Amino acid sequence: MESNKKQINEDHSNFIHDIIDKDLAEGVVKKVHTRFPPEPNGYLHIGHAKAIWLDFSTAEKYGGLCNLRFDDTNPTAEDVEYVESIKEDVRWLGYDWGDRLYYASWYFDQLYEYAIELIKKGKAYVDDLTAEEIREYRGTLTEPGKESTYRNRSVEENLDLFIRMKNGEFPDGSRVLRAKIDMASPNMNMRDPVIYRIAHVKHHNTGDKWCIYPMYDFAHPLSDAIEGITHSICTLEFEDHRPLYNWFLEALEIENRPKQIEFARLEVSNMVTSKRKLRSLVEEKIVDGWDDPRMPTISGLRRRGYTPEAIKDFCQKTGVAKNKGVVDISFLEHCIREDLKLKKPRIMAVLDPLKVVITNYPEGQVEMLDVENNAENPEMGTRQVPFSRVIYIEREDFMEDPPKKFFRLSPGKEVRLKNAYFIKCEKVIKDEKTGEIIELHCTYDPETKSGSGFSGRKVKGTIHWVSAEHGVPAEVRLYDHLFIEDEQTGELVINPDSLKVLKNCLIEPSIKEAKKGDQFQFLRHGYFCIDTKDTTDEKLVFNRIVSLKSSWK
Ligand code: ATP
Ligand code: MG
Repeated sequence: MESNKKQINEDHSNFIHDIIDKDLAEGVVKKVHTRFPPEPNGYLHIGHAKAIWLDFSTAEKYGGLCNLRFDDTNPTAEDVEYVESIKEDVRWLGYDWGDRLYYASWYFDQLYEYAIELIKKGKAYVDDLTAEEIREYRGTLTEPGKESTYRNRSVEENLDLFIRMKNGEFPDGSRVLRAKIDMASPNMNMRDPVIYRIAHVKHHNTGDKWCIYPMYDFAHPLSDAIEGITHSICTLEFEDHRPLYNWFLEALEIENRPKQIEFARLEVSNMVTSKRKLRSLVEEKIVDGWDDPRMPTISGLRRRGYTPEAIKDFCQKTGVAKNKGVVDISFLEHCIREDLKLKKPRIMAVLDPLKVVITNYPEGQVEMLDVENNAENPEMGTRQVPFSRVIYIEREDFMEDPPKKFFRLSPGKEVRLKNAYFIKCEKVIKDEKTGEIIELHCTYDPETKSGSGFSGRKVKGTIHWVSAEHGVPAEVRLYDHLFIEDEQTGELVINPDSLKVLKNCLIEPSIKEAKKGDQFQFLRHGYFCIDTKDTTDEKLVFNRIVSLKSSWK
């Protein structure tokens, strides 16, 4: 089983690697060089994790390099906060860009020179049409576009106007620089795309130096070429842009010709992977920031308690495809369970406590029980858990009038306390006014200590517990999917019940040694993580990462 799993993990092959294998075999490429090119206009999400994994692990596989490049050509939406968060997320996933951190904005001078070169070659022109007119003239999928009245300006006039655009002589939106390709092309992207626009906006890197900014389709292939990228991996929506990508490289007679390869975006059910939509959740305060544990962002997943290993395993096992598909979120949950299963201690936590007094247990006595840290992984050793006269059990583990198949605690019935003794419920104490059960009186059988080899009789149920005196109070946050499908429209909508806060939980005292961010299995409840943001010296807060049961088959 283990060796089989290893095989799956090591088999990083996919259609992109087949292309690279061929390029290497034919000598077209000597050393593989990829890049991850995020736009710093939001925090990264699970879809970006897939791209990061693919770009970096592909370079790794071939002993090549992967750059981190900020595609910061649109200053209106970008911010340094996002730059920092992106770096942190890539590093956390375990990838190292070495000294190859780049910004497209570092190439603004060179990109400007390339634009001048295109003009000189008669392959670009300044257009005075309004944005609306440009749209109108573009035609449709079934009708060819119409040439702009300014399309046949002389090289000299174009040079003069473009330089004056750069010098700030014209207002925003008054003119653009367009590539001169083919207004009748069946590919809309080839109908004289805009390559520079005027925007009198301060840029987070270049300040006020520029008031013209290159468009993505122009900046991207040239940035790739400048950095010596061999394989420029991107998502399918850029497939129709590939002819344009190649056109710029050819028109400018660039020697290094990176190859653009597209794959299907990662889409996960119950998750939204659009920075714009995620930003609106943050701005409208529907969530507690970009790192809210329900967010599909990398920072949200990290705060929730996901590990880089689980995320990368998920990226790999969901494969690299040419066709669109949606991965069920339960598969992501399966991956984190698998990762934590043998690595994390399994401890006892009572989330909805009901007091139990063991009337025949000596008052003031505390017994330290030796408990396995992880029943499936003996290498994790044991720990000591205190047992005493007053304990708490889970309220739902007791029923006054149980149905037939209820094997936990009920009046006159016996149950096993995990790692401890059998107890029998003798008396139920209720609140006089409300009738609510507030306490149980039980007796224990000293003969039945766990590990003592007792074989006198059996009980069907085992329940967990925490010693009242020793337990550590905590708040536990249970999550459901942030998005659910609307029954009528099938669209994803916000789930109004995505967060449930339990404020009176009690955790066994071994938790005192844990640090923020540590993960645990709470027996019978799932995997939990100490919240890094809201936990203080006075208050312990847990996030449920995932429940124990898998709905994934
Ligand atoms: P968004 O639409 O959320 O803003 P984007 O594609 O515009 O995403 P970028 O910052 O441009 O965001 O993305 C950087 C890289 O990550 C790109 O190469 C992009 O193709 C890739 N990427 C973005 N979303 C996904 C996804 N869902 N699956 C795989 N790769 C993705
Ligand atoms: Mg993008």
